[in-house]
Amino acid sequence: MGDLSEHFNHKDFKCHCPECRGEEFKIHLGLVGALEMIAEHFKKPVRVISGYWCDAYNDKLKKEKVSWHVKGKAAHFAIDGVPLAELFLFAETIPEINGVGLYLKEGFIHVDTRPQEKRDIFIKDGERYIPATPEKRKLYGIGS
Ligand SMILES: [Zn+2]
Ligand SMILES: [Zn+2]
Repeated sequence: MGDLSEHFNHKDFKCHCPECRGEEFKIHLGLVGALEMIAEHFKKPVRVISGYWCDAYNDKLKKEKVSWHVKGKAAHFAIDGVPLAELFLFAETIPEINGVGLYLKEGFIHVDTRPQEKRDIFIKDGERYIPATPEKRKLYGIGS
C-alpha cells in the first residue's frame, strides 16, 4: 500500500529538479486513479518516470507544447516487460485520460487528465509530435 493509493506514493510524482528539490508538489488524484487502473489491468508494477514539474523545471525542459505536468495532471510511465504500444492502447480506453503520448525514443507513455474537449492523442518520434491519425497509428503499430 502506498501513501497516496494502493500502488503509489507521493514521492513517485515529485519534481525531479535540483531547484525545488522535490519540495513542490501537486498531483491530481484522478490521474493517480487512472494509473491504478493501469497497474490493476497489467498486474505489474507501474514505473512512474515523471509526474509533477515545478515551473522552473518545466522552463528548463521546454519539451511539451502544453504542460499538464505543472498542474499535477500528467505523468510518464512504463511497465517493464509490457510493450509501449499495449500501454498506449489501454491508456486510451480510460475515461479520465484525455491526453496520451507514445514517446518512442524515450521509452515511456505520457498520460494526462486534461478536459475532454482538449483531447490529444499523439506520437513523439525524435523531436516531432505527430497526431495519432489512423494512418500514423498503422505506421507506429498502434492501429486497430
Ligand atoms: Zn522542481
Ligand atoms: Zn509528459
